[in-house]
Amino acid sequence: MSFDVEKIRSAFPLLRENPTLVYLDSAATAQKPQCVIDAVCNFYAKHNANIHRGLYRLSQQATADFERARERVAAFLNARESRECVFTRGATEAINLVAASWGGANLCAGDEILLTEMEHHANIVPWQLVAGRTGAKIVVAPMRDDGSLDVPALKNLISEKTKIVGVTQTSNALGTVNPVKEICAAAHAAGALTLVDAAQSAAHFVLDVQDIACDFLVFSGHKVCGPTGIGALYARAEILEKMPPYQGGGDMIETVDFAGTTFRGIPGRFEAGTPNIAGAIGLGAALDYVSALRPQAQAHEEALLAYATKKIRAELPELRIFGTAEKKASVISFHLGEIHPSDVGMLLDTFGVAVRVGHHCAMPLMKRLGITGTVRASFAFYNTFEEADRFVGALKKVREMF
Ligand code: PLP
Repeated sequence: MSFDVEKIRSAFPLLRENPTLVYLDSAATAQKPQCVIDAVCNFYAKHNANIHRGLYRLSQQATADFERARERVAAFLNARESRECVFTRGATEAINLVAASWGGANLCAGDEILLTEMEHHANIVPWQLVAGRTGAKIVVAPMRDDGSLDVPALKNLISEKTKIVGVTQTSNALGTVNPVKEICAAAHAAGALTLVDAAQSAAHFVLDVQDIACDFLVFSGHKVCGPTGIGALYARAEILEKMPPYQGGGDMIETVDFAGTTFRGIPGRFEAGTPNIAGAIGLGAALDYVSALRPQAQAHEEALLAYATKKIRAELPELRIFGTAEKKASVISFHLGEIHPSDVGMLLDTFGVAVRVGHHCAMPLMKRLGITGTVRASFAFYNTFEEADRFVGALKKVREMF
């Protein structure tokens, strides 16, 4: 079946109404299709009520819709059961939950948390916070010059001291795709748990937590065409059941008494307070939408990446691409000669091309490359080859201005 990009674009109001915009910042956040916007609007317009606490039908309907969204998350991740999926504000909150709850209860002085040099700050700082509280130590697996992870070196760093290995499946700054299944197997062989940051991969690849065999996996809804402020933590039920609550409040308890409180089972124990109900319902719609487009969407993104990379190499020899690993998502991170990335980004905007510049929340990765930032163009399945041409054309005009 051919992939009809124009038909897909017509389902995105923002793209439809801004035909001259070349949006190449989907790694920061993806645009939203009408079905997601409708799901959120319909909830507020027709079904709005708080969940879990109402005896009236409207509330029961809202509860059912929220829990159905959880089932969609479980299906999207191929989790064994939906109670393994906790709604969070996004990938960042999901990692904070694991670090604070599991890490706080299980880490002690001398234990090691193994991360990689290419992690997003969201998979570094929560671990630093818990390391500071527990005396555990962060160990960092190196990245090679081409932006690929040095997997043998990572495996050598795994020891009986390693309690958890946290690794991104796809680098947001470079696009590198890491062999997370292999890494999880190596960690488990040493008795360590594993956390996969799928914030970037959820938008590009089919995720299968049973195949990866990870203990934790996190992603954000807004990068998969869903609303902002919603995401999910997947955790193996037997681990989640043993974790202490992350935040306290309403909805996560069974009984409260000043003498002591008892908590709900999983996943409710980790969802204190009124959640982002509309966001969860919108996320469910988004996951259905992107799932239906695969695998053609992935093939289209791969073709776009190959096309844009080849064109850049042929027409802009002074453009230096950072991240040339063999397995890469549709991200091109670069310097245009000696022109400062911020200047490139601002000037591209004047030609209608939206890209991101800076450290991309990956300062250790930038330090490893000896730079302070890059320009990052990230392609989604709704981008076209013509947009890739316009992007390269705009870069040429920027070059001529210096
Ligand atoms: N991990 C990676 C690899 C990311 O790219 C991002 C966001 O850019 C995050 C984590 C954090 O996601 P969020 O800000 O949606 O919580």
